[in-house]
Amino acid sequence: MLNFKKYITEKEYFKVASQVAEEMNIQIYVVGGFVRDLILDRKLDDVDILVVGNGLDFAKKLSQKLGVKKVDYFKTFGTAHFFYKDIDLEFVGARTESYSRESRNPEVEIGTFEDDINRRDFTINTLAISLNKNNFGELIDKFGGVKDIELKLIKTPLDPVETFNDDPLRILRAFRFASQLNFKLDETLLEAATKLANRLEIISQERVTEEFFKILKSPKPSVGLKLLFDSGVMEVIFPEVANLGGVEQRNDFHHKDVFLHTCQVVDNVASVSDNVWLRFAALMHDIAKPPTKRFDEKVGWTFHGHEEKGSRWMKYIFKRMKLPFSKLDYVRKLVRLHLRPIALISDEVTDSAIRRFIVTIGEDLEDMITLCRADITSKNPKKVTRYLSNYEKVMDKVRDVKERDKLREFQSPVHGEEIMKIFNIPPSRKVGEIKTTIEEAILDGKIGNNYKEAFEYMMKIKDEFT
Ligand code: ATP
Ligand code: MG
Repeated sequence: MLNFKKYITEKEYFKVASQVAEEMNIQIYVVGGFVRDLILDRKLDDVDILVVGNGLDFAKKLSQKLGVKKVDYFKTFGTAHFFYKDIDLEFVGARTESYSRESRNPEVEIGTFEDDINRRDFTINTLAISLNKNNFGELIDKFGGVKDIELKLIKTPLDPVETFNDDPLRILRAFRFASQLNFKLDETLLEAATKLANRLEIISQERVTEEFFKILKSPKPSVGLKLLFDSGVMEVIFPEVANLGGVEQRNDFHHKDVFLHTCQVVDNVASVSDNVWLRFAALMHDIAKPPTKRFDEKVGWTFHGHEEKGSRWMKYIFKRMKLPFSKLDYVRKLVRLHLRPIALISDEVTDSAIRRFIVTIGEDLEDMITLCRADITSKNPKKVTRYLSNYEKVMDKVRDVKERDKLREFQSPVHGEEIMKIFNIPPSRKVGEIKTTIEEAILDGKIGNNYKEAFEYMMKIKDEFT
């Protein structure tokens, strides 16, 4: 365990905060995620300070003492925050809460230190460090949070059914912490989550998506994904992913069950890349396998066209999950093309097929191959080695064709301006069509990727366009 007392003592702002509290004759504590992460020696983000009294008044006095000019006050929530140097300090008055069924927004009343600690979601989040003069730096651990950190356990301080019922977002938070910290859930938690999965319907999509993506960003996302699946929560928040469960496929190349295969692919990507959109694309790559599943006498289960169909689902999924549309094309492309590299392995593949792939995948080539490599989840090491070396072969071909064609930023060597001049036409769709025809000729290998041949070709096809 990190020497947190030393850490707290060395920080100027904690010392000044302690003095201000003393002057105001109130009690203050550092609480919640900050204390948990301090003990776990994880990266620290905002500092939450619990004020037994008026949090706004305290924030105001402390900011003046620290010489901070800009303070944000949220009167309705009784919270305030400011930056001191680059540290985000948050202040909240101690409170008690009671919940109504329809909403996760509690009725809030002023409370004691105990009240405030009691309403927190998991034992590991109930820890507090006193900033008060009489016991400065002392850890207050009412619910055995330190022990649970040592046991790597997510556990609610009170009854889990009640805890989740009061605020169903806590179900997702439990899974997310398990995934982020690689902790286990106390056994009563999964049961409670299963029972209350449908309650997640009252949570706003933004909050659900935020937690879901924290799971995807965690070191081993399958931990959280499997908890979502096993509890039936996945069915509520992401039914398409839930539907992958129990879908059987051939197991020479992949894992037998499409959901478990997908989990493995996401973990494989996560082990080599922090790009959460690549991880999301991995989660989506086989999403349309259930509705395209057919039985073929010769080869067994097939999923023809699942990559096309899956890519067509992305817009709807992005909309419903409130994901940023700026990432839509990227995910759609990776889903649509994830089988293409396999198709390019054979020795008979022409340069033009390789060129088309290079141009369609564009700057996302590396990510595409990362996903393809991650997609190999066979348990047979010989097969894995062979499949991986096949992708190496494809990459060699790609490098070779790129080298020869200088295709990196591919577009017609004859530009629009010149086309307009030669054909004597204004900017119009026709200009685009002529350009595309030239580009197609290059991709098909009819002409080389250079100005001279492109210009001659344009003159040859001129009549077709006038
Ligand atoms: P992270 O910052 O990684 O999201 P965190 O635990 O710090 O994790 P915050 O949202 O910053 O989460 O909340 C700070 C603290 O507030 C938590 O540690 C916990 O004690 C309490 N808390 C947050 N959300 C809830 C909730 N839904 N129910 C009960 N307590 C909560
Ligand atoms: Mg936090």
